[in-house]
Amino acid sequence: MYQHLALYINGQFLDGQGRQTQAVINPADGSSLGQLPLASQGDLDAALEAAQAAFKSWRHSSPMDRSAILRKVAELSRERAQEIGRNLTLDQGKPLAEAVGEIMSCADHADWHAEECRRIYGRVIPARNPKVQQMVLREPIGVCAAFTPWNFPYNQAIRKICAAIGAGCTIILKGPEDSPSAVMAIAQAFHDAGLPPGVLNIVWGVPQEVSDYLIRSPIVRKVSFTGSVPVGKQLAALAGAHMKRITMELGGHSPVLVLPDADVARAARQLARFKIRNAGQVCISPTRFYIHDDIYTAFVDRFTEELANVKVGDGLDPDTQMGPLAHERRIPMMQKFVDNARSLGGKVLLGGEQIKRDGFFFSPTVLTDLPDDALVMTEEPFGPIAPLTRYSDLDDAIARANSLPYGLSAYAFTQSLQDAHRLGTELESGMVNINHFGSSLPETPFGGVKDSGIGSEGGAETFDGYLVTKFVTQI
Ligand code: NAD
Repeated sequence: MYQHLALYINGQFLDGQGRQTQAVINPADGSSLGQLPLASQGDLDAALEAAQAAFKSWRHSSPMDRSAILRKVAELSRERAQEIGRNLTLDQGKPLAEAVGEIMSCADHADWHAEECRRIYGRVIPARNPKVQQMVLREPIGVCAAFTPWNFPYNQAIRKICAAIGAGCTIILKGPEDSPSAVMAIAQAFHDAGLPPGVLNIVWGVPQEVSDYLIRSPIVRKVSFTGSVPVGKQLAALAGAHMKRITMELGGHSPVLVLPDADVARAARQLARFKIRNAGQVCISPTRFYIHDDIYTAFVDRFTEELANVKVGDGLDPDTQMGPLAHERRIPMMQKFVDNARSLGGKVLLGGEQIKRDGFFFSPTVLTDLPDDALVMTEEPFGPIAPLTRYSDLDDAIARANSLPYGLSAYAFTQSLQDAHRLGTELESGMVNINHFGSSLPETPFGGVKDSGIGSEGGAETFDGYLVTKFVTQI
């Protein structure tokens, strides 16, 4: 049994009922899992009206009540993690353990928002005139429109929903049509937790048509998007034209610096494991590797050996360490990166091709001897491809790491405290991880700089994008 698919508008789950539908495909074997109903313009209008009406009361709801609902969602997520995880593996492909892990970590995100939403404080500013009172209030911005992708469908949606709802906003979210089950499960959890109708609405459709309609609507005051840089720029431009607040979590191209004093075996093992996580379809995936000359050969050998031993297969098989790519369209993209590297003199040490079996599988791939202007060194591969290059001078490596317009996450391995400090301050990146991978916790901010985005999710900053600052003065 796969997840029941529907729209969720004004507290109602709405099935096909004459609407257009889209097939949902299992990337592990290409089979059809179900039909997703797509929203008509009337459905989008109904979602907008419901969110607008619900905002009138939800904005004044007690933070204690909002907190209780978010806590309940955390509890339900934990209780249902196995079932939700299984459906996520079916429609997205990631190994079941990763899928269940995603749901469990999202329960922590909901808990974090449940705590923090009780602490959205304003402040009092001392006045020049003792009879004057000056207050700064932080109010919910209003109806939010959110668009989330298919690589972490539960995580990316629940973070936006919890931030909006915790702040006192209402939200319309368009989830990923290719992998919709996790977002349906979120709607069910909020419904069962007693969220009033209209506070959360879920729609599906042709992405560009839905985002265009919602962003242009005067009802929507805030736009939040996770996805690729080109789409993010389009949506940000449209939101800007209508003077709407944005949060943009966009793509990355994370540099990895392995310094000569690093623990090579540990770095190679950890980086290989992270590289194949979600088949490399992770915006903070380690992407460009700069390895110091002194340890280059040792690192390349170790890293390649680690990736060669990865068990690729159906995510429901408990032995699987890496599943398929989420869509068929990703395979030619991977091949393009590999072919381009080859044409520029790059060597394929491992993989480099589609795996011949049903489904959309691509081998873990190691590329070496390629120039910095190879496609895979400048565009986000979003797949299990690791280009390894060498460096001799740290200044030069930092300059190369900072040379792209992306700035989401960066990684470094070194035992030098001095170099670690330098990398932490000089890498142009929203997140810098040294000797381990520590991003994406609920209590830490997640977000990029440069083309990788605007704003943060999580951490103490999580509600900032969903609140407006109002100054009230009285005498
Ligand atoms: P894509 O750029 O077409 O789509 C990416 C996501 O954005 C999808 O979920 C899609 O439904 C959505 N989208 C596309 N156009 C939209 C629009 N006009 N309005 C609203 N949503 C829209 O490409 P794709 O093949 O699905 O994914 C490939 C690329 O997307 C990757 O190479 C990667 O760079 C990027 N991506 C990034 C993230 C992330 O976490 N930052 C997640 C998924 C995809």
